[in-house]
Amino acid sequence: MEKKQFQAESKRLLEMMINSIYTQKEIFLRELISNASDAIDKIYYKALTDDQLVFDKDSYYIKVIPDKDNRTLTILDTGIGMTKEELETNLGVIAKSGSLAFKKENEPKDGHDIIGQFGVGFYSAFMVADVVTVISKALGSDSAYKWESAGAEGYTIEPCDKETIGTEIILKIKENTEDESYEEFLEVYRLKGIIKKYSDFIRYPIKMDVTSKRLKEGSDNEFEDYTEEQHINSMVPIWRKNKSELTAEDYEKFYAEKHYGFDKPIKHIHISADGAVVYQAILFIPENIPFDYYSKEYEKGLELYSNGVLIMNKCSDLLPDYFSFVKGMVDSESLSLNISREMLQHDRQLKLIAKNIESKIKSQLLSLLKDEREKYEQFYKSFGRQLKFGVYSDYGSHKEVLQDLVMFYSSKEKKLVTLEEYVSRMPEDQKYIYYASGPSNERIEKLPQTELVAEKGYEILYFTDDIDEFAVKMLMKYKDKEFKSVSSGDLGFEAEDKKDNDDADKNDHKELFDYMKGLLEGKVTSVRASKRLKSHPVCLSTEGDVSIEMEKILNAMPN
Ligand code: ADP
Ligand code: MG
Repeated sequence: MEKKQFQAESKRLLEMMINSIYTQKEIFLRELISNASDAIDKIYYKALTDDQLVFDKDSYYIKVIPDKDNRTLTILDTGIGMTKEELETNLGVIAKSGSLAFKKENEPKDGHDIIGQFGVGFYSAFMVADVVTVISKALGSDSAYKWESAGAEGYTIEPCDKETIGTEIILKIKENTEDESYEEFLEVYRLKGIIKKYSDFIRYPIKMDVTSKRLKEGSDNEFEDYTEEQHINSMVPIWRKNKSELTAEDYEKFYAEKHYGFDKPIKHIHISADGAVVYQAILFIPENIPFDYYSKEYEKGLELYSNGVLIMNKCSDLLPDYFSFVKGMVDSESLSLNISREMLQHDRQLKLIAKNIESKIKSQLLSLLKDEREKYEQFYKSFGRQLKFGVYSDYGSHKEVLQDLVMFYSSKEKKLVTLEEYVSRMPEDQKYIYYASGPSNERIEKLPQTELVAEKGYEILYFTDDIDEFAVKMLMKYKDKEFKSVSSGDLGFEAEDKKDNDDADKNDHKELFDYMKGLLEGKVTSVRASKRLKSHPVCLSTEGDVSIEMEKILNAMPN
């Protein structure tokens, strides 16, 4: 038996690895299963070019075997295996990736399915194991070898017996400490959960022996244990399937399985992009507001997969804030990952995907608005506020995306209308888009300021949400029409008869107005006769751009 030292750098790296690269212990299983899957892929690629080799899909699998009595967890695969030299170079030198080398050698032949590239995943096993033993027999070799290591001190390597080609990784699971539990990695239900979470779409079967109880034959109250081999992963992800094969129920089931929400989604968007960047995505527009949606706790983001392996639960870079209600996942093979796979290099590919997704969501919302108005209004009731916040907070750069998606209550239609609908109905002499702000539609309806505009036959948009007026201030214009509050001093259609009127005011009522102004000292800047009133004796109006409602909100804001 030979005892070898890890290289000095390796020692340091190994410690770093175990303590800091990964934030969750459970991902060791994802890494070992990814390696096993890579090993099977390699046989598959070899078979593509080697006539001697037949790839019979059924004989390739991965098996996870917990053994509580011996406190071991074994991950077994029927992949390509490792020779003695490969055990030394691939497992003895940290950050040496045999898989990356394989990909380089085999390019341009489609080697992109292989996941490994950093040469560190294997060592994550030391997060949960004191000793890691690897027994492997390489394709085309007659002898098998056993590699064993207890961590930073180095490893041993010796010949051993193994009948079949492939690799077994045996982890001696750590004892529980006061604040860490390792026992869970020997529990079947826990292991099944981890496999479902990270490795559900690995293309080869992941098997486990699962023991359950059943009624003894011929008895109706005696139970016996029985064990069956279960196939844990679902292998073909729904997003790789053809849209035409899938029903609305399939998507709803996926939505529920993934715990995206307890409601039923209003719409699903299935994208299969093949252009400058290759990715698949399934996105959902929920029906209801998640309970924490308008709180600080809410985290936006999409699940991110690289080649069927879950990399990140919530990748926030994939969604702009104003579409933060969108749920779903993205799978791409063209991402550059960092070592722990928990963070992405912020790269061009990701930005391209995000851009692409944004425009897909927008166009799907527009078509919902056009074709399924009721559903859109339902959606808007839940998330309209977020869209308006988007208009407001984005300093105009995404106005284009959002201005056609926002809606306001209309004085004429008595329902929500879009700006496009409003503008298309404007009479020729109408210059502005009029709005009135207030706490509710009923209260706005009674505002004296709305009378004159309504009398002119113009439609008024009712702003009942704090954000409404701020949002249109940001928009400034829609299709070249400016927005105007019905309480603003100049309504834009008084100009012609205003002048003589002003003079008359000054002379006829000067004393009265001065007296009233004196009474309201500090509360108003002037008292004037107005032509805008019909059935009400007085109203307040503002000068300049800030409406009364906006002033209230601004005054209420903490400084
Ligand atoms: P990566 O997967 O990023 O290459 P790892 O540290 O996970 O890095 O693995 C290091 C190397 O060890 C792999 O590239 C591969 O060559 C080899 N290896 C690991 N596990 C297996 C396995 N089950 N079968 C065959 N080779 C393996
Ligand atoms: Mg790996």
